[in-house]
Parts: sequence; C-alpha cells; structure tokens
Amino acid sequence: SRADKMDLVIQKIRSFPDFPSKGILFSCCIRMCFCSAGIDARGFLFGPLLAQRLGIGLALIRKKGKLPGPTVSVAYSLEYGKAEAEMQVDAVEPGQKVLLIDDLLATGGTLYAACELLRKRQAEVLGCLVLVQLTDLDGAQRLKPVSVFSLTEY
Ligand code: AMP
Repeated sequence: SRADKMDLVIQKIRSFPDFPSKGILFSCCIRMCFCSAGIDARGFLFGPLLAQRLGIGLALIRKKGKLPGPTVSVAYSLEYGKAEAEMQVDAVEPGQKVLLIDDLLATGGTLYAACELLRKRQAEVLGCLVLVQLTDLDGAQRLKPVSVFSLTEY
C-alpha cells in the first residue's frame, strides 16, 4: 500500500543536527538496498534515472564538504588543480555491487577516485557508465581492471 511505501522511505531518512551550520536539522534519504553511485554534479542527472529504471538504490558521491555525518574521502587531481570526493560511510554496504555513473570520462581521475571511495567501503565496482568518453585521454586505461561503458565516444 501507499502507507507501507511511505514507511519504507521514512525508515531510510536520517537527520543530522547542526549541519551545514548551527540550528539546521539536515535530513537525507540514504541507502536504498541496491546501488548505483552518481558523481557530483552532472552524474546526479543520470544516476537517479538509471537507479529508478532498474529499481535499485543510489549512493551520492559528492564534492568534499557537502555531506553530514561520518564520511570517507579521496583526494585527486583535475586538469587544473585538485579536488576531493566524499561519500557517507553507510551509503553502501560492504560487498555491495555498485555501478558508477558520470556524464563524461576525460582523464579518469574523477571515476578513479570514486572507485577508491567504494573500495574503502569494501563495495564491489561492477563498472563505470558515462554518456561521453574522450578516448584520446585514455581514461579507460587508467580505470582498468574496472570496465567503462560509454554511450558516445569522441
Ligand atoms: P576526469 O576526471 O578527467 O575524467 O574528468 C571527468 C569529470 O570532469 C566529469 O565529472 C566531467 O563532468 C568533468 N569534465 C572533464 N572534462 C570535461 C569536458 N571536456 N567537458 C565536460 N565535462 C568535463
């Protein structure tokens, strides 16, 4: 029933007092059973669509500083400068199989960092899915042995 479904959602909501600033009760819906992981920010456009279509959950991998509670993070370098990816420790379960989703694969640094995050939580990365792969930059090579699936290549 609809009430049962709402109960399921409500059970998954967690609240963190005083995040991101004092006086705010920050609530988020986490850890729906199975998992795809979308990467901040344009991965968030596609990760949820796929998760809903497949009937699986979604973990969010974010730029550092956005997530409350215990997190794991990995620093990585971009074409210009550095960045840090972060995920809540309980976004995935140990042993859970995860598909990583982003809009575009360039050098692979971002998806490599995401793989590291999931490994830190003992999740198994089944593969990376992107809309666009810039093949000249050899990102897929960098991600091996994890496979990359792309819808278009340039
Ligand atoms: P990389 O870590 O080098 O594989 O870069 C991939 C990440 O940076 C993705 O999250 C993309 O959204 C973004 N990105 C890198 N290069 C481009 C590009 N040429 N066009 C659009 N987005 C890019």
